[in-house]
Amino acid sequence: MASVLAHQGFIQGPEVRELEEALARLTGAGAVISCANGTDALQIALMALGVGPGCAVFVPSFTYTATAEVILLLGAEPVFVDVESRTYNIDLDSAEQAVQATLQEGRLRPTALLTVDLFGQPVDYERARCLADEYGLAFISDAAQALGATWRGRPVGSLADVTTTSFFPAKPLGCYGDGGALFTEDVELAAVMRSICLHGKGAAKYEAVRVGVNSRLDTLQAAILLSKLEIFSDELAARDAVARRYAKRLGGRVVAPLLPEGGDLFAWAQFTVQLRDRNAVQAQMKARGVPTAVYYPRPMHLQPAYSAFGAGEGSLPRSEALSSMVLSLPMHPYLSQSEIDQVCDALLQAEVA
Ligand SMILES: *Cc1c(COP(=O)(O)O)cnc(C)c1O
Repeated sequence: MASVLAHQGFIQGPEVRELEEALARLTGAGAVISCANGTDALQIALMALGVGPGCAVFVPSFTYTATAEVILLLGAEPVFVDVESRTYNIDLDSAEQAVQATLQEGRLRPTALLTVDLFGQPVDYERARCLADEYGLAFISDAAQALGATWRGRPVGSLADVTTTSFFPAKPLGCYGDGGALFTEDVELAAVMRSICLHGKGAAKYEAVRVGVNSRLDTLQAAILLSKLEIFSDELAARDAVARRYAKRLGGRVVAPLLPEGGDLFAWAQFTVQLRDRNAVQAQMKARGVPTAVYYPRPMHLQPAYSAFGAGEGSLPRSEALSSMVLSLPMHPYLSQSEIDQVCDALLQAEVA
């Protein structure tokens, strides 16, 4: 930060490009474009892929608002799909049915599959890829919570047509403000996305070749992220250890997330359990000094802003059930064993009470 203050290249300073190169090494992605936040990253990906009026984008209902919001901002329509109970990620069988129903209806053109690696657990990238290819959909992965995770030995960021992430402070790789990035293998698409980030800039200064936005990562945030990247793999390993201790203490007592298999890594943005009496357990844990959070209390298809695009209550039962049952426990790389045990004790005592 001191070096940025000294050179004063606050916008597009050298650290921004350095960070993009470091993120490309981390993920194996051919091109990385930093931007202002994870929501912008999603919007820019959809803009570059030409998503607009008449397009259907297939998206899980159990996600953060941003994933649904950007689709509507561009005049396209979200088709909300249910999720799997255990992984919290999009159910790809339901997604295929939704694509077929959209084709049958004929009002919208199926255009993109937008999956979410919720809580840091990668979606089944292989099946998502097959589904996208079969129906000619662009495959976009919202990996705001999953940077650093691997799927069958390959890093998230190199597995979809475009992957997006966020550096919001609470994400696995957080900065000290807002930040985001896009990842792709497609060099031409990368150039379009970079142009969109910079007001649709062309080759020459002050040449606007398309309508874009102003979405840049601050140099100060890039400098912070470069420092944090040095210990990111240690932090991921520490999150993994926390998750394994939680799973060992809680598995069989409450519905806990599945652990990664075959040497893969989740990013463990959250460790989220499912409880029949969630609200009561949360209140009792709070009384014992253990903070928890509910991600997310309402699925997208029942949100006032988006409900016109869903089929209403009862239409996506797993998303609806999860919204009333999920509870995310304290999760960060520096939780001590005794703190983890304190959380588990409070949860198990509340659960039996
Ligand atoms: C955080 C998050 C976003 C948005 O990222 P911002 O940087 O806050 O704009 C989008 N999708 C998911 C799943 C997220 O968790």
